Amino acid sequence: MDKFQIRKLFQYVFLGIWLLLLLYLIPIKIHTCHQFCPYSVICFGPMIFRGLSVYFIAVIIGLIILISTIFIGRRFCGYICFLGTIQEYIFKLNPFKTKTRISHKLDKHIKILKYLVLIITLYMSIALIQYLYMQFCPIVILSFPGAIKKLGIITLLILFIGGFFIERFWCRYLCPYAALMNVFQFFGKLLGIKKHMINRNWEICVDCNICIENCSMNIDISKYEEISDPNCIHCLKCIKFCPKANCISY
Ligand code: SF4
Ligand code: SF4
Ligand code: SF4
Repeated sequence: MDKFQIRKLFQYVFLGIWLLLLLYLIPIKIHTCHQFCPYSVICFGPMIFRGLSVYFIAVIIGLIILISTIFIGRRFCGYICFLGTIQEYIFKLNPFKTKTRISHKLDKHIKILKYLVLIITLYMSIALIQYLYMQFCPIVILSFPGAIKKLGIITLLILFIGGFFIERFWCRYLCPYAALMNVFQFFGKLLGIKKHMINRNWEICVDCNICIENCSMNIDISKYEEISDPNCIHCLKCIKFCPKANCISY
């Protein structure tokens, strides 16, 4: 089994686990789901600053994932997160994929949005009004379709329409958990911790840009010898599509 198949296997397994949980969760209250959701670290974690109890199991799992990004980057996004996998499959349905690419210049600006979403979500948690974010939270919406409120339809439209035209639209521009993972990677870098990265061999590279055209996160790979961009989710597509053997590798 090669590295691409191993990644797919991870994605299928975790998507399957989510589907099983979904069937199992239907008779359970959303409240119970929050207790184990790693994303709760954002929605409920900051409540601790108000002296209130938080969902400790969920927060600890969430923190482990966040800390892991300092050492291995956002493999969680590329291998495990079911929401990322679902978006990957939504985009596969788009027959005009190559025509809906966003320029790197514009992309750089839109990516800032997720940090705003992170700040707003953290504020809502501290202000104890996180139920407002819950109405938009894609995890809640996809896991409890019966509980979708009017505002949740906006998230569904973003996930399905945005994700149809732009690969991993939510991951790139709006996911607050992605923003927090990037913050952790930033501090890891400040501390001089060496992250596991993908490398591009400039001597072999012929600048065909095929890797850039296929990058799930629209990273300008041409800038890097070591792809240190915090938004890299280790989807391996750049390695898979590069026509030059051993040009991009771990
Ligand atoms: S960016 Fe967010 S939604 Fe996308 S894969 Fe990562 S954690 Fe999941
Ligand atoms: S295509 Fe390469 S650079 Fe882009 S996200 Fe995937 S692994 Fe990272
Ligand atoms: S696909 Fe390979 S050869 Fe082409 S630009 Fe990217 S790294 Fe270089």
